[in-house]
Amino acid sequence: MDTNLKRRAFVKYLALGSASITAASYGAVNDKPKAQTKKPNFGMIFDQNKCVGCTDCERACVKVNLVPKGQMRLFVEDKTDPNNRMQKRYVRVSCQQCVEAPCASVCPTNACHKDLLTGITTTNADDCIACKYCIVACPYDVRFINSENHAAESCNFCLDTNLAEGKEPACVEACRYDALVFGDLNDEESHISKLLRIKDSLRMRPECGTKPSLRYIPAVKMGV
Ligand code: SF4
Ligand code: SF4
Ligand code: SF4
Repeated sequence: MDTNLKRRAFVKYLALGSASITAASYGAVNDKPKAQTKKPNFGMIFDQNKCVGCTDCERACVKVNLVPKGQMRLFVEDKTDPNNRMQKRYVRVSCQQCVEAPCASVCPTNACHKDLLTGITTTNADDCIACKYCIVACPYDVRFINSENHAAESCNFCLDTNLAEGKEPACVEACRYDALVFGDLNDEESHISKLLRIKDSLRMRPECGTKPSLRYIPAVKMGV
């Protein structure tokens, strides 16, 4: 199936109710799918309390998205305090899926753009001239030039791969510890929206004004 058809298939899947994603993945069965009223804003939660640093998500991303050897769209950084090795801390580093995405604004060819159907920031490799403007503009240092196709790329929530097949992003599928949650932040009934209503979460570098769609649930401090 070509990429556009795959995307349409994904959006059709969404149109059956964004609850479908959560229903499939979290067992929250909803017999009456609703029509999507707002444009989607796909986001992800990384829960630092649950991540064990296994890096299964990294390997799944590389495999599903055919990321060249030695390059990564996502990595999990060990941020454990060396003075407190008992309390392990990990942080996901990847595209923050900014609502206001400077990478897309500066791209002279529109290779880096917001996907019209899903709003996800993604790159059309065929249109990329490898000028690296987007890499410089990204405040999160998560874009790179793919060493095989020589186009810029970063995490696009598996838009052309897993999402196109109606699945969740590869990292979410691979995580056995429920540290990652994906869904539509504009759907009040989605699992991710419900979680964010009750959990304290952070955005990376909010001062940049990019409105990241990645949210981090920080580790709860243990002991005194
Ligand atoms: S797969 Fe889950 S638990 Fe393992 S490193 Fe990734 S986010 Fe953390
Ligand atoms: S994190 Fe960087 S690459 Fe991702 S949307 Fe934001 S500016 Fe673009
Ligand atoms: S490197 Fe490619 S995607 Fe990035 S700004 Fe230049 S043309 Fe656009």
